[in-house]
Amino acid sequence: AERVRIETESKAPEPSDVKISNPHRVIFPEAKVTKGELAEYYEAVGPVMAEWTLARPISLVRCPQGRAKKCFFQKHDAGSFGEHVRHVDIREKNGGVEPYLYVDDIDGILACVQMGTIEFHGWGSSVADVEKPDRLIFDLDPDEAVTFEDVKKAARDLRTTLDDLGLTSFPLLSGGKGLHVVVPLITDAEWPEVKDFAQRFALALSEREPERFIATMSKAKRKGRIFIDWLRNQRGSTAILPYSARARPGAPVAAPVSWSELAKIEVPSQFGVRDAKTLLKRATSAALKGWGEAAQRLPEF
Ligand code: ATP
Ligand code: MN
Ligand code: MN
Repeated sequence: AERVRIETESKAPEPSDVKISNPHRVIFPEAKVTKGELAEYYEAVGPVMAEWTLARPISLVRCPQGRAKKCFFQKHDAGSFGEHVRHVDIREKNGGVEPYLYVDDIDGILACVQMGTIEFHGWGSSVADVEKPDRLIFDLDPDEAVTFEDVKKAARDLRTTLDDLGLTSFPLLSGGKGLHVVVPLITDAEWPEVKDFAQRFALALSEREPERFIATMSKAKRKGRIFIDWLRNQRGSTAILPYSARARPGAPVAAPVSWSELAKIEVPSQFGVRDAKTLLKRATSAALKGWGEAAQRLPEF
């Protein structure tokens, strides 16, 4: 894998030189959020988003005509994003190599927004060593009949079970319908080992409480249950990145929260692109200090 310098220092005081065209175009018709406002959101949260987003292969959800029109998921690009968006060659299953996208500064994030990006999804590993994940993610996907209270309880139960294995975890509001439980890892194990752990962990929970949890994607079998989506932990899979906006009504964002705050949160779309100031303030609050940080390896399981 190509070595790159990982730049996480904030460049916020310097105004971005990325020009946003059509800043008055409405991207979120329900909330009337424009492309210019979305760019301002990303510029504002850039310094705290950077830690999770920079130097990581990313996939983008682009909606050039707004979230209510055609959107597409993009992993590769031939260079149309310009100089601020970089490429890293990654080996494919078929033996070939494909250039994946990544950004290494806030201008890179804004260059993606200029191209109609709403959502930033990331690999669980960095471009410096794509084969070694630096986190596990359990994406809790509830059936429609499941309340958010039940999803929160499920997240807390995952936390307890992970704790019993010596693993510290953190909740992330997806900005959509569910919650993600994030488990930071020292980059050591490679994808197959991490995927295997995630699968066995999800299966163990679903076998312990089959009326609450399911570990397979089947929508038919999900009825009234929560799918513990462990498939985010395969090489090449992505998950929504903290502070990414979501292409959903109301312009919500994915937001880190603490376990104690979670008790009072009523919806996974609690925070939105108009909450940049709040999110920035929260990022340095006592509640979120150390969010996503834990030096730990997968245990025997
Ligand atoms: P929610 O809380 O509503 O479930 P989420 O971000 O967890 O929000 P999911 O649908 O559970 O959404 O997750 C789907 C994941 O699959 C995303 O995180 C994304 O990285 C990935 N994904 C989404 N669309 C595509 C696509 N078209 N191709 C490949 N991967 C995708
Ligand atoms: Mn989900
Ligand atoms: Mn999912």
